[in-house]
Amino acid sequence: MSNYKQGLDFAKSQDQNDPISSYRNQFHIPKDKDGNDWLYFTGNSLGLQPKATKEYINQELEDWANLGVEGHFEAKNPWMPYHEFLTESMAKIVGAKPIEVVIMNTLTTNLHLLMVSFYQPTKTKYKIVIESDAFPSDRYAVQTQLEFHGFNASEGVIEWKPREGEELLNIDDLETILEEQGDEIALLLIGGVNYYTGQYLDIKKIADLGHAKDCMVGIDLAHGVGNIKPDFHNSGVDFAAWCTYKYLNAGPGSLGGLFVHEKHAHNKDLKRFAGWWSHNKSTRFNMRQPLDIIPGAEGWQLSNPPILSMAAIKASLDMFNEVGMDALRAKSEKLTGYFEFLINELNNEKIKIITPTNPKERGCQLSIQVKDADKNLHKQLTEANIITDWREPDVIRCAPVPLYNTFVDVYKMVEKLKEILNR
Ligand SMILES: *Cc1c(COP(=O)(O)O)cnc(C)c1O
Repeated sequence: MSNYKQGLDFAKSQDQNDPISSYRNQFHIPKDKDGNDWLYFTGNSLGLQPKATKEYINQELEDWANLGVEGHFEAKNPWMPYHEFLTESMAKIVGAKPIEVVIMNTLTTNLHLLMVSFYQPTKTKYKIVIESDAFPSDRYAVQTQLEFHGFNASEGVIEWKPREGEELLNIDDLETILEEQGDEIALLLIGGVNYYTGQYLDIKKIADLGHAKDCMVGIDLAHGVGNIKPDFHNSGVDFAAWCTYKYLNAGPGSLGGLFVHEKHAHNKDLKRFAGWWSHNKSTRFNMRQPLDIIPGAEGWQLSNPPILSMAAIKASLDMFNEVGMDALRAKSEKLTGYFEFLINELNNEKIKIITPTNPKERGCQLSIQVKDADKNLHKQLTEANIITDWREPDVIRCAPVPLYNTFVDVYKMVEKLKEILNR
């Protein structure tokens, strides 16, 4: 959409014509001391709280108070199968079949558990490809997996890097890495949307390139889930993991999600770390049976899960289910396009958006590089109640979230940025 216009009136008219604008009222928006809403652009770090979350959690607190252990079966939403109430909505959001998805543990834990199964190195085929700008937790996970298997981490990690003088990754370079070193590579573990640049990579292409060289392919979807539509089943990736506290608004430290492709669902020979929750539900409480793994993603569960965290996830997923990813993406492309338009209209040569300009290659986040800036810029924005994320050396990450951010939020943010830069 290139028919964006300058001025507050245009922003207001876009909000009036936004078919999903009412969802903002379903969130708690933090306010300054005068009662003005913050301009909150860090839904990529911690999503805001849906007003309904409290009721969902209170329901479980009440059932626990009134029923004690009987709540496992007698609660309004029985705790024993509680995770199953989340599966269908979660599967829809990531483009998976229900058998491919489960909510459990947290993101980095899940990456390790998945690598137990899908990182099976041999003496000669053991290397792991990550993005050069991978999120630190993913890098540490991969390094320690290599060491756990007796390899040298710095030798075993292959970095897919942007070209000299560029910020973004080029899929041709991944192809070259695989052509040259594919025989030594066991696993690709790539962020579906890069946390730093906001680049949304071609997940299917990555899967095809990896599989052509007999590598396993895993995706970290922390910055993609609830933001883009990864179409996991059709992409053919072997596994994926994500968290639910960023775009999924399920609260600080809430549980993560996991995808294992259907092609692995019935392979009981896959190595894994198991617990009683990996075991056949119908005989789990006989307690004396040999391990009988549940087919599909549920077979990676270990423990009985924290219901209070799941209640917050349910509150969020029920909302996502109602809105649908199509409507969210439609607004998101417009909103982020508008943000990009206003930044470009500033015509400030110090500012460069490093996120791709093609809407198909990004989610809602724009990473804005400000030459010669330091953290003081971020501080001045924060003092104006504009919440963004600063990444050294000179990047502001800003995510207008389609569920609760408005065109007026974006307009006001860019006006303030202009004012600060002209000081
Ligand atoms: C947010 C994020 C994490 C955080 O991991 P936790 O285990 O949830 O603390 C890891 N990797 C990526 C890519 C992330 O964006």
